[in-house]
Amino acid sequence: MTDPQGSHGHSHHPDEASDSGHDHENQHAGDPQSGILRASVFGVSDGLVSNLALVMGVAGGSGEPGMVVLAGTAGLLAGAFSMAAGEYISMQTQREMLERELSIEREHIEQFPEEEEAHLAELLTHQGLESADARRIASQVHRETGPALDFHAHFELGIHPASLGAPRAAAFSSFVAFALGAAVPLLPWLVTGDALLPTMGLSALALLVVGAVATRFTHRSATYGATRQLLVGVVSAAVTYGVGLLVAGA
Ligand SMILES: [Zn+2]
Repeated sequence: MTDPQGSHGHSHHPDEASDSGHDHENQHAGDPQSGILRASVFGVSDGLVSNLALVMGVAGGSGEPGMVVLAGTAGLLAGAFSMAAGEYISMQTQREMLERELSIEREHIEQFPEEEEAHLAELLTHQGLESADARRIASQVHRETGPALDFHAHFELGIHPASLGAPRAAAFSSFVAFALGAAVPLLPWLVTGDALLPTMGLSALALLVVGAVATRFTHRSATYGATRQLLVGVVSAAVTYGVGLLVAGA
C-alpha cells in the first residue's frame, strides 16, 4: 500500500495562497479568521476520510487489530507530514514569488521614478480620483520608496507587502488539522480489540459534523453538507474495505 494521501494532499493550496496575498478581500466578509478556519475544516475532513479509508481497508484485509493500529498510526503521520510539507512549500513558494514581484517593482520605482509616479497617478484615477488629486497624491507618495512601493503593491499588484503569508504557521495548523481528523477512525482500535462498528459509528458522526461545519462558508444548508460528507466518506471506506477483502482473499 503506497502513500494514500499523496494524490490529494495539496488540493486546497491555490485557494489559500491567493487568500494570503489578498487579505483586503477577506475583510469584506467581515471575518479575517474565516480563511484559517476554512483551511482547518478541510484539513480535518482530509484526515478523517483518508484514514477512515485506510483503516477500513486494512480491517477488511486482515481484521487483526494490531495491524489496523499500525496502519492507522502510519497513515495519520504520513498524511499529516504530507499536508504540512505541501502547505509549507506551497506558501513559501507563493511568498517568494510575491517577494520577487515586489523587488522588481522596487527597482522600477528607483530607476524610473517619474514614469512610475505617472503610472500610480493613472491607477488612482481608475479608483475614481480626480486627475489633479491623483497626481498630487502620487507625487507625495513617491517622496520615499517605502510608501511608493506599498501603493504600487496595492493598486498595481494587489499585494500587501506586510502580509505575504506565514508558511510555518500554515504548515503547523495543516498538520494538526489532518491529525485530528485521522485520529477519529483510529481511536476505537486503541480502546477495544474489535473496533469495526465503533469506528464506523464514530467516523460517521465526525463526517456529519465536519460536513455541516464546512457549509458555514457556503450557501448550502448544514443538512446538505453533512449528508454529502457522510456519503463521500462511506463510499471511500466501503471501496477500500472491499479491496482489502479482495486482496486478502486472493
Ligand atoms: Zn508600478
